Amino acid sequence: MEFIQNYINGELVPPTGGCYIDNYEPATGKVYSQIPDSDEEDVNQAVDAANKAYEGWKNLTIEQRHDYLIRISELISQRSDEFALAESKDNGKPYKLAQRVDIPRAVSNFKFYATAIMNWSSEANHIAEKAINYTLRQPLGAVGCISPWNLPLYLFSWKIAPALATGNTVVAKPSEITPYTAFLLSKICIEAGLPPGVLNIVHGLGTKAGEAIIQHKGIKAISFTGGTKTGAHIASVVAPKFKKMSLELGGKNPNIIFADCNYELMLKTTVNSSFSNQGQICLCGSRIFVEASIYQKFKKDFVEAVEKLKLGDPNDSDSKIGAVVSKPHMEKILSYIELAKQEGGVILTGGGQVSLPGRCAEGYFISPTVIEGLDYQCRTNQEEIFGPVVTITPFYTEEEALTMANSTEYGLASSIWTENITRATRMAEKIEAGIVWINCWLLRDLRTPFGGVKNSGLGREGGTEALEFFTEPKNVCIQYGH
Ligand code: NAD
Repeated sequence: MEFIQNYINGELVPPTGGCYIDNYEPATGKVYSQIPDSDEEDVNQAVDAANKAYEGWKNLTIEQRHDYLIRISELISQRSDEFALAESKDNGKPYKLAQRVDIPRAVSNFKFYATAIMNWSSEANHIAEKAINYTLRQPLGAVGCISPWNLPLYLFSWKIAPALATGNTVVAKPSEITPYTAFLLSKICIEAGLPPGVLNIVHGLGTKAGEAIIQHKGIKAISFTGGTKTGAHIASVVAPKFKKMSLELGGKNPNIIFADCNYELMLKTTVNSSFSNQGQICLCGSRIFVEASIYQKFKKDFVEAVEKLKLGDPNDSDSKIGAVVSKPHMEKILSYIELAKQEGGVILTGGGQVSLPGRCAEGYFISPTVIEGLDYQCRTNQEEIFGPVVTITPFYTEEEALTMANSTEYGLASSIWTENITRATRMAEKIEAGIVWINCWLLRDLRTPFGGVKNSGLGREGGTEALEFFTEPKNVCIQYGH
């Protein structure tokens, strides 16, 4: 049985309290490693190390910081198969998906921010014949980065890379449900020669290790991705301390399909946007609104396409649907399917747990589920399920589609399918979401602002937004000599 270690002050160390938590492989339901059950003492050590390392790290040239980040990205890239296998085992996602999406994206995150910092400059404003103002963009100090389980290394590195690039040191906590690739990352950092204390990774429970990070006086900002309820708690702790925080939270994203769309492209993409990563991507479109004139055709074709998705062992190269992340999460998803039935929903396909033969017999598999016949205001259509469950609902007018799309407390992402660009841009303006995809889904450009409105979060990640978040602007005004 492997024991995952914390990474503090440049070394792999056991939790000071000596306690561990079981780490399950979702595809088999079996414990395969042990996660440090870190507490306040471990976090104190990590924060001390980060604060000691800060002066040295922030005073490196940006080229030196660039070189470290590039080295980390290269080392992950060289071991991408090992990382992809580990991510798949820890999370339940198909190995092929981790190999195609998660790990390349973690590589890109380090590469992107290594080069972004080399090209970033701050403002200068000249007041004619009087003075010049220039803005210093200074790092914050030791910052906390906390991430969820659905895209483990992908989202972990999305925070760590800009924090380090801008000269901060980091205390980071991956989800206790998927810690393994963060552990591999700590080994890579040691190999890359990252100075001790620059990045510290503390494993453990949110309510214990995570809570100690958000409460710590030595932490200057919190970058968090996870559930809305956790985000609200973090805000209540961090806001009164007047620390910067970035919150990327839950979603219940609408996918609006008009009759004049490119039907084939829409159908193929909608299968993906509904069930990729077992529907456990915060950007998945879980509420599908279809113009009434093509509703019946869409229903038939969509269900047919969904039924062709191969659900199986994440290790099999042809598996498109793997296991959901944990037993409690599987039970939560199944309870929502039951709720949908009680609310009058009709299950068109899927609807339950699937038992696979062989090594996956005890795994957490749910067949991709499509439900129709629900009111847009019912709980199934309002609450985040975060699993392979979507609802389909017809609409007659643009206004009706917008009303339904905007009816939830969330506002993360949305998709609009139409060949009418005037309508698409009109809808894009009115839709309450931080991201609008027109005739596509998850087409990501790392330079763009990423984040949500309403209960989907506060602040933006990506591009210069993250560089700005992890720095404090200071204006310096110089009067010209006379
Ligand atoms: P979660 O909120 O339960 O946990 C997220 C992280 O926060 C974990 O590392 C957890 O240990 C930690 N945590 C929990 N309680 C804490 C506390 N009191 N103090 C500090 N840290 C604490 O979320 P999850 O179940 O891991 O992830 C799923 C959620 O994440 C979904 O709601 C999904 O929509 C959301 N998500 C959002 C985005 C986005 O970019 N908006 C991306 C991915 C996932």
